[in-house]
Amino acid sequence: MTVRTRVAPSPTGDPHVGTAYIALFNLAFARQHGGQFILRIEDTDQVRSTAESEQAIMDSLRWLGLEWEEGPDIGGPHGPYRQSERGEIYQEMVQVLLDRGHAFKCYRSAEELDAMRAQRQEQGNSMALKPSDLILPAEEIARREADGAPYVVRMMVPEEGVCVVDDMLRGPIELDWSQVDAQVLMKSDGMPTYHLANVVDDHLMKITHVLRGEEWISSAPKHKLLYEYFGWDMPQLCHMPLLRNPDKSKLSKRKNPTSILYYERMGFMPEAVLNYLGRMGWSMPDESEKFSRDDMFSHFDIHRVSLGGPVFDVEKLRWLNSLWLRELDAETFASRFAAWGLKPERVLPVIPHIQPRVEVFSDVVPLAGHFLAGLTELTPQSFEHKAYDEEKLLNVLQFGLWQLEEIRHWSKEAIEERLFAMARLLDIKVRDFLFPFFMAIAGTSSTISVLDTMALLGPDMSRSRLRHAINVLGGVGKKKAKKMEKEYRDLSAAIQAELNGGE
Ligand code: GLU
Repeated sequence: MTVRTRVAPSPTGDPHVGTAYIALFNLAFARQHGGQFILRIEDTDQVRSTAESEQAIMDSLRWLGLEWEEGPDIGGPHGPYRQSERGEIYQEMVQVLLDRGHAFKCYRSAEELDAMRAQRQEQGNSMALKPSDLILPAEEIARREADGAPYVVRMMVPEEGVCVVDDMLRGPIELDWSQVDAQVLMKSDGMPTYHLANVVDDHLMKITHVLRGEEWISSAPKHKLLYEYFGWDMPQLCHMPLLRNPDKSKLSKRKNPTSILYYERMGFMPEAVLNYLGRMGWSMPDESEKFSRDDMFSHFDIHRVSLGGPVFDVEKLRWLNSLWLRELDAETFASRFAAWGLKPERVLPVIPHIQPRVEVFSDVVPLAGHFLAGLTELTPQSFEHKAYDEEKLLNVLQFGLWQLEEIRHWSKEAIEERLFAMARLLDIKVRDFLFPFFMAIAGTSSTISVLDTMALLGPDMSRSRLRHAINVLGGVGKKKAKKMEKEYRDLSAAIQAELNGGE
């Protein structure tokens, strides 16, 4: 048997360090066994998936040195590797399940489902909806069918009993069937859900081992049952511990930059980022902290993954990066620095903003040095301004940060729309309103548009600088945050209403 592993990201946002972490362990496992590693794009959520996100995921994985043998860009014998191009396969497979009685068409309306769930909640019952709750009497099905009512396809699931799922790290895991609902496999628009597409593709792509985040454990019983319904062997499952913030909560962009693009822009070396991801729950036999991808692959053993939640700590990563940087000879340092700082993708978009404002090249760095910087040099005095007292300043920065967290597709327009709506609602002149953003993002207010700058820096770098500014100003403690959140709720609703009204 050839070991085949895969990473299967959904292209719905910036490339996440968690995706790279899972990719690394899948690749290491495949390499250890002389096997193959595949990239599959799970883009069945057509509303949230974008081509840019897919491209950024591929670029980021390559930047880190995580190369795949088969994937959407390079093809392979089991393609297509993009789920949106595999619609016919899922249609066929869902029909197999319907024909065998392992799935049923469910004509229940959203209102009926809500009512059932509300009733369950009232009774303090398990929330899982079972086929017996959902299947309508035959005449009613016929009537709705004749009316052309929309339907989804759901899988049959046992009402009770225990499902045992074997996990490579955890051994047998017992899960109660009573908690498992009659999962939707195909939505009313004919698109498959994650569960169906994932199982069908892992089988057809001959995946032998599935290493994925532990948040998927609760899906495992459904997957196991689907393999049984189809009569296929199930790949071995291995649920990896989730990455955590230093405070042990699940790694989130609210607390930590999570986009690989951020680490690239901050000037981390890909070797160091990969090294650090390799230390998430895993260690070399000799416990060495600094190791290369190939060192890791030649010593890899999945059973040395420890299940305690690994902490992704940016400070620790900086330290590790410094070890990698110091080892470079001067020539390599110079060429890698130039390749990082002056790469055309980074520099070209900035030029139109600075060219009209400089007389000599030496004006460039004072004007636009913040494009190559990390966090801005700031003191509380940097923010002194006649329009602001301390409280108002913190409010504007924190509310602005929260608004920016809401943006799904990062662009100048999206940033402007939200911040300008906020300025209007808080009744602050745009010029005054933008001042603290200029300071936080650029360290000065006499430079190019701060909205353009944020758009070019990307969401994680912009948010990091705002968070840093808030900390320089004394930070927002728990108590203060509670008070602010209360105020923010109304403001946020009003901003949303303005945005909706403008559509
Ligand atoms: N598309 C899923 C994700 O984004 C894949 C989960 C899996 O590996 O099964 O995490």
